[in-house]
Amino acid sequence: MSLDDCIGHLCLRCGICCNGILFGDVRIPDPAEARQLEAARLPLRGKTQGRSVCACLPQPCPALGKGNLCAVYRDRPTRCRQFECALLKQAVAGAIALPQAVRVIRETLARAQRVSALLEALGNHRSDRSLARRFRALQRALPRRALTEDSASLFADLTLQVHDLNLSLRRHFYPGD
Ligand code: SF4
Ligand code: SF4
Repeated sequence: MSLDDCIGHLCLRCGICCNGILFGDVRIPDPAEARQLEAARLPLRGKTQGRSVCACLPQPCPALGKGNLCAVYRDRPTRCRQFECALLKQAVAGAIALPQAVRVIRETLARAQRVSALLEALGNHRSDRSLARRFRALQRALPRRALTEDSASLFADLTLQVHDLNLSLRRHFYPGD
């Protein structure tokens, strides 16, 4: 199947590489590209890289709209243009059937939803941050909080769910080359 067909069947049901499940941000090393995104009113952040600071588009990406459509698709950053996850590559190569790939996406989104619900239950409401960042923030905050039996149990569940989600991302989505 062609890349465009696979994008239509999979990416529009997915959004995992844009919505803060797989990545925390998109690096924009090209200043001209950064200016173009700022002109489109997308909020960029600075991220330290060695001794320099690189512009980044935070995730969940503010350009991600309904139906997983990208609001700046024609002018999306080079890194977004270049990225194809392992699942998409497998689908294009015919190594996985589309219904199976759709099932993987659904299951991974459901895992991410469980992680998000547990973060909320434990008091982290930063849905504008990636799941990994929210989990790290909660881990850092925990020693300052007196854990009840209930919240300790929720945190244990969250840790297992994050582990499950990471396994799924590693197995199906990270490009691996
Ligand atoms: S994670 Fe893969 S299937 Fe999902 S939107 Fe990104 S490239 Fe498409
Ligand atoms: S700019 Fe578009 S393709 Fe890139 S992360 Fe944002 S929504 Fe995804």
